[in-house]
Amino acid sequence: GPGDGGAVRPTIFAEMSALAARTGAVNLGQGFPDVDGPAHVVEAARAALAAGRNQYAPGDGVPELRRAVAAHQERHYGLTWDPDTEVLVTTGATEAIAAAVLALAGPGDDVVALEPAYDSYAAVTAMAGARFRPAPLALRSDAGDPAAPRFALDVAALRAVVSERTRVILLNTPHNPTGTVLTADDLAAVARLATEVGAVVVTDEVYEHLTFDGAVHVPLATLPGMAERTLTVSSAGKTLSLTGWKVGWVTGPAPLVTAVRTVKQFLTYTSGAPLQPAVAAALADEDGRVAAYVAGLRASLARRRDLLAAGLRAAGFDVAMPAGGYFVVADAAPLGFDDGARLCRELPDRVGVVAVPVAAFCQAGSPAAAQLRSWVRFTHVKRDDVVAEGVRRLARLA
Ligand code: PMP
Ligand code: GLN
Repeated sequence: GPGDGGAVRPTIFAEMSALAARTGAVNLGQGFPDVDGPAHVVEAARAALAAGRNQYAPGDGVPELRRAVAAHQERHYGLTWDPDTEVLVTTGATEAIAAAVLALAGPGDDVVALEPAYDSYAAVTAMAGARFRPAPLALRSDAGDPAAPRFALDVAALRAVVSERTRVILLNTPHNPTGTVLTADDLAAVARLATEVGAVVVTDEVYEHLTFDGAVHVPLATLPGMAERTLTVSSAGKTLSLTGWKVGWVTGPAPLVTAVRTVKQFLTYTSGAPLQPAVAAALADEDGRVAAYVAGLRASLARRRDLLAAGLRAAGFDVAMPAGGYFVVADAAPLGFDDGARLCRELPDRVGVVAVPVAAFCQAGSPAAAQLRSWVRFTHVKRDDVVAEGVRRLARLA
């Protein structure tokens, strides 16, 4: 009815961060860094503000940022895009994904995503009037060790939900919440399915530079024949630890980017002007300072992941080791908790920690929701002392 929003509800992140603020608990819920991004990038934004870059940017983004995004895609992945027709600047990856889904899918169409799925995917699919069809990731155990589970693409499960009605396959690698980095074989399987049914793939690559243990991020658009049918989405938030800036972008073939731009015009018209030159300079990175920053961030995130994972194991959780991103997911069932949502509501009072139930990334009643009912997501993108305090507190759960 009016006001209940149907499939569109207040996000779990708002609820859990409010809980953290109210209880003073250690917030390992919402994924945002508690240390600012590179000072010289922040300084570049200050300079743009002072230089009067304060009126509307062009609808598709300032030219230097579009050129920097195209150059970044070429330098890292060998993808060549025309900055004038094949790059669109958006208000974060969130707007790029929303505009893409709204542009490409409507009533009678299906949008397929891997489940668990970042929560905006199902919401924006509902706004488009399309049907959301989640395909569960497989939960496997390495070397037969049930205490070392890991998530992987389940091609059969994906094939089971892809059909002629599939307009969009929404892919996310490195994956939130599981930290799965899709392999070249995984991507080839997705490419085959998408091509078979004529679907466009929208790939959410916001954690593209945050991979661990030598895991390599491969954009789907680099696979043979896929550049024509893929919209690649990323943003500055995660790479630069500037999540509040909400500067994102989408690249792809001109007809698809044009469709996204058409919708974007009526969502936000244009995105924040003074931050765009700063992100452009950061992506161009002429003095290599950003590359050094990102290498350091990757190493420190891997170290904090290890700290969090070891603490969770010591506390009795089964832990799926992530290969990328901001999060560690863990099963609370060995501790006797079969309902992760309930555990997350109780955690602040029990031990003073906030986390997010993995069920928040699943459709009610889906196979993944049932299988992952006892799973909880923790972020490791917090200072070492915060992660350490979090795991000290979680040890009291046992
Ligand atoms: N996709 C994923 C998988 C994310 O984790 C996030 C982080 N909130 C986003 C999209 C949103 O990115 P942005 O803040 O650039 O909109
Ligand atoms: N990407 C972050 C997370 O998954 C923040 C999401 C949000 O606040 N919407 O926790």
